[in-house]
Amino acid sequence: MALLVVGSVAFDAVETPFGKCEKMLGGSAAHFSISASFFTHVQIVGVVGGDFAAEDKQILDAHDIDTSDLECVPDGKTFRWYGRYDYDLNVAHTLNTELNVFAEFKPKLSEKSKSARLVFLGNIQPDLQREVREQVTGAELVALDTMNLWIENTRESLLRTIKGVDVVIINDAEARQLTGVPNLIKAAREILSWGPKALIVKRGEYGAALFTKKSYFAIPAYPLESVFDPTGAGDTFAGGFMGYLSSQQTLDDAAMRRAMIFGSVMASFNVEEFGTARVQRLTHAEINERFRAFKQMTHFEEIPFERAVPATK
Ligand code: AMP
Repeated sequence: MALLVVGSVAFDAVETPFGKCEKMLGGSAAHFSISASFFTHVQIVGVVGGDFAAEDKQILDAHDIDTSDLECVPDGKTFRWYGRYDYDLNVAHTLNTELNVFAEFKPKLSEKSKSARLVFLGNIQPDLQREVREQVTGAELVALDTMNLWIENTRESLLRTIKGVDVVIINDAEARQLTGVPNLIKAAREILSWGPKALIVKRGEYGAALFTKKSYFAIPAYPLESVFDPTGAGDTFAGGFMGYLSSQQTLDDAAMRRAMIFGSVMASFNVEEFGTARVQRLTHAEINERFRAFKQMTHFEEIPFERAVPATK
């Protein structure tokens, strides 16, 4: 009863106002699976090239991530993403993308992957996301992420993929771009009208919101004084969210709300260092401590207000 993820496994080169890293393990599936591995058993479907070294794979192995469906093309090169962040760390600027082995990728799922209970369709070409979705017929919950590139270039395919999932997890700019509606609440209603049961809108340093047809739930981001590298924060959020849900028997509204907090907790650690470095060495005690901090930060008591004394000047 595992959690399956399809997405990019990449080498990222990232520049932020605080530093630069020429090459580090990244990609939606890598960030997602390392984060989710703290909660559940994860399987990756993806592709890497011959340059994906034993020490890169070791990072996934160390988190007990099942890579038997992570295809390796020995004479190909791993997907590469070059990005930059300015002082507004909520906006990633793509400098270059080298698809490499991703250009010819055809997801092949083993019987084990096909029987996954939960599925995350990480940020890749929407036709590929759909190919995976259609092979996991018995999944209880399927979630999807995407990005501006696919909204711009493959909109029709993306809309078809969205129709077949239960949860959409995107950021606020993507929700607006996808619908052409500037108001986020209206944009959310529109996306939900296409079929998904829930929509999560990630808002970077401003937190995240969960929309369903009947309810709305919003949380702040964990207040960090130094954000170092936001790369992968979205996928790390999704990993915490889906990983926690995967550990639960009942996937109801209350579980989704707790999963939102675990997603935010994991994302808050991710941004403290380059790439997956901080999340790699997390402990369950640290995760639980930050979960409790979230509870405290958002707690208030309901005391009915009555004005006993009329206001005087
Ligand atoms: P995010 O969680 O949104 O910050 O995602 C960052 C990750 O997305 C990076 O580690 C990149 O390797 C990966 N990425 C960037 N562009 C693409 C793309 N076009 N297709 C797949 N993955 C990508």
